[in-house]
Parts: sequence; structure tokens; C-alpha cells
Amino acid sequence: MTQPAPWSRWNPPVVLQLGLLLAFTTLAILFWTKAVWPQRFLWPQASGEAIFCIRTQDPVMALTFDDGPHPIYTPAILDVLEAYQAKSTFFAIGRHLEQYPHIAQSLVDQGHELANHTFSHPDLNRRLRSEIEREVQQTDTLLAPLVKSSQPYFRPPYGHANLVVMQALKDMGRPILFWDVDLLDWSGLSVAQMMTMLAKQAHPGAIVLMHDASPSPDGSPQASRQKTVELVKQILATYTPQGYRFVTLSELLTLGTPQASPSFCR
Ligand SMILES: [Zn+2]
Repeated sequence: MTQPAPWSRWNPPVVLQLGLLLAFTTLAILFWTKAVWPQRFLWPQASGEAIFCIRTQDPVMALTFDDGPHPIYTPAILDVLEAYQAKSTFFAIGRHLEQYPHIAQSLVDQGHELANHTFSHPDLNRRLRSEIEREVQQTDTLLAPLVKSSQPYFRPPYGHANLVVMQALKDMGRPILFWDVDLLDWSGLSVAQMMTMLAKQAHPGAIVLMHDASPSPDGSPQASRQKTVELVKQILATYTPQGYRFVTLSELLTLGTPQASPSFCR
């Protein structure tokens, strides 16, 4: 004769069963709404040192591009921006700056802004403080001949910045610029899907994240940014007639009050 499974003998009172069900449902809802899910930008928000957008009534947005420069996609994006007289900020990886200094120079010559996105694109949360400082300083050295500020804006790879990272950047006096609209242009979404995402999130003072290159090797399937080039075209063609201007982060920050949490952006 087969023994009944041990759990089938467990027969708690109905009240306890209902209580457990209620507790489980409540927890599931809290996690789903991220009320108790660890916040992605917990430390940057807690520090009050990071900027996610600005508050303004002016129809302005800052398009920002991470991980370049790239020999094909960065010039292609620059051509699109030029056609609409739009200006942008490019968070460059140091090792890509070393490879393509002429592209970085042409970007600056056209009135765009360069910023620091580390030298080798590591997850800084997993690095020692001395390594964090070296990643920032190596790229600063490469940026020095190209930028006016001795402390260009900084954005950590993957948006990862724990307490150690935030403190190191604060001690280096670095302005830390995140974003409040992430179009996930690396993730395989179609341009139409990304435009729909933007339509739901666009607002005066938004900082929009895109990528003009990939930290992955050029041969990898994730490395193409052709969709990003098309996306920029559609953004400018859609929002410029609505009165929006597209400006560098330096200009954006003069046009409203910087917000230290994405929750205050819309
Ligand atoms: Zn990046």
C-alpha cells in the first residue's frame, strides 16, 4: 500500500489557511509593485548627489548616448542630430576614446558634449575604491583635451552605484547624471516599440538614455546600433514639430531644477 505524502497529512485550521493565503498575496503584490523590491537606484537617490531629470515647463529634453564613440554609429547619429540642429551628450568609454579620438573630436566640434562612462565599462559595485577612482581618472585624462570642464559629468555603467561608488564619486567632486527615460535600445525591441515607450514617458526636462555603441565586441549580435540611429531620426521627426528642443546636459541643467530621484520627474 502506498503511503500518503507527508504534506497531505498537514491540515491546519481554515483560519490559518486563509491567513497564509492573504499573507502570500500581499507579499506578491508588494513585490510586483516594487514596494519592497530593492530599488535599482537606492544609493544614488539616498545620497541626493545624482541627477535624473530637471523640473521645467520648457519643452526641452536631453538625449544621451552611452558606450561610444563608435566608428559607424556615432557619425550616423551625429548626421541625424545635425539635420535637426539638436545637441546631445555622449558618455564615452575610455578605451573607445583611445581607439576613435577623431570621432570624439568631431562630436565636440559640432557642439555636442562628451562625458565620462569609465575606462573599461566594469560593474563598479564589484570594484575596490582604488579601481573605481582609476576607471574615472583614466577617462578624465583622455577627455581633458576635448572638454572644457576639468570634471566632466559621470555616469556609472549599468547605472550601478552602491554606497562605496557614490562616496568615491562625491569625494572626486563628480556630477553624476543618470536618466529617467530608458529606451532599452540594446534589448531587441523594435523602433516602433521604443517610440511607444517614449510617448508614455516623454516630458519637459527628461533625460533619455540610448547607446551609440556597445561595450560588447563589435562582432557580437548585440553590437549593432542601427536601430538606435533610426530611433533618433524618429524621435527628432516626431518631437521637433511639437516644439521640443534637444540640448546637452550642461544646457538642460540651466533650464530647471535638477531632480535627485526619478520619482520626482513626472
Ligand atoms: Zn554603458
